[in-house]
Amino acid sequence: EPPSPEAVSQALHDVFGFPGFRGVQDRVVERVLHGQSTLAVMPTGAGKSLTYQLPAVLLPGTCVVVSPLIALMHDQLRSATANGIRAATLTSADENRGETMDRFRAGELDLLYVAPERASQPHFRELLSRARIALFAIDEAHCVSEWGHDFRPDYRLLRPLLDAFPHVPRLALTATADHHTRTDILAQLGIAEDGLIVAGFDRPNIRYAIRPRESAMHQIKAVLDENPGPGIVYAPTRARVEQLAEKLASATGRRVLPYHAGLSPDVRARNQAAFVASEDMVMVATVAFGMGIDKPDVRFVAHAGIPKSIEAYYQETGRAGRDGDPSVAVMFWGADDFARARQRLSEVEEHRQQSERQRLESLAGLVETAECRRAVLLRHFGEEPPARCGNCDNCLEPADVIDATTIAQKLLSA
Ligand code: ADP
Ligand code: MG
Repeated sequence: EPPSPEAVSQALHDVFGFPGFRGVQDRVVERVLHGQSTLAVMPTGAGKSLTYQLPAVLLPGTCVVVSPLIALMHDQLRSATANGIRAATLTSADENRGETMDRFRAGELDLLYVAPERASQPHFRELLSRARIALFAIDEAHCVSEWGHDFRPDYRLLRPLLDAFPHVPRLALTATADHHTRTDILAQLGIAEDGLIVAGFDRPNIRYAIRPRESAMHQIKAVLDENPGPGIVYAPTRARVEQLAEKLASATGRRVLPYHAGLSPDVRARNQAAFVASEDMVMVATVAFGMGIDKPDVRFVAHAGIPKSIEAYYQETGRAGRDGDPSVAVMFWGADDFARARQRLSEVEEHRQQSERQRLESLAGLVETAECRRAVLLRHFGEEPPARCGNCDNCLEPADVIDATTIAQKLLSA
């Protein structure tokens, strides 16, 4: 017997403090509470966590959450615990694993976060068989697909584990899945096609602009000058991050900090905390920065070079304006970006080349289009948008685009 609608809204209010569901959350929760496996494709910030945390609280047993990064798990753990949810992580970094396993077996956990590689460990399966499992939630589920932009082989280990518990419903969650990737996630995780729920992807408060790069430094300085609020600048390499951070700080007088995987965990944590707390700081970062960061008032995201794919672009720019206030996303691309990306294509394994090439072509399509950027973006995610959004460079200043288009076409045909 699934919980009554009254019990659901009461938990939503009492445990999470939300007056109601947003978007498709209710449809996803409804399915999960009825034991139906589901793939929910919901944009970043749409509130995917709630769709498994709420059932985790309401259903008897523990919701086992698969998550790709320890940092992500710890963020989730913190916010769940703050809401009074009984949650724990089970990772190599945790020293209290014994205690966590005891609590899990004793039915004292609503949520247990694990990394995908644990799925293949025989003693983990054994542990699961000794507990009551309410639900498997697979976060960042695009990692299971080679069509996705962030394939992680460890995610392929999940299927045998899921199949060992055939009566436990599966909830796969992702922000970024084009048609191919979606179909693949469903197949890889054994979820029926009618279990797919897709939320609206449009972020109407984000103004998109994509421009040829002349001098990243000067162009991004102009973005900083026009946007005094907090912002993120993505740069392709650690060296570029350091260099841009330093130059932008001295050129603008603003507080600018770097973030990349080469910095010590301490420095990274400190810079991230400073950014989250700040109302005017700029973070210059590699793509290592941003996943799982809850900062609603990011006013701009600037790309000093091309992102990896449209999915990555959408996810990275999607960190702007989660509070719904006007925000900007500006990308500066160069011929050399595409040349390098094409070069890298020849280095990837054979069986991935086709999907990688298609990904690059889609991105090139977005860069070179004279059409509405938002329309191209949304169509990529399977939505049929209006022809013009009125809030992107191509809608607002069509003349500018013609140059960019010719240049890009030359680039890509080479
Ligand atoms: P996602 O994983 O889809 O990017 P999160 O689960 O991290 O999103 O949620 C994003 C933000 O939205 C969080 O701050 C969360 O507290 C908030 N949120 C989620 N659901 C609701 C809701 N129903 N009402 C209000 N805020 C919500
Ligand atoms: Mg999430």
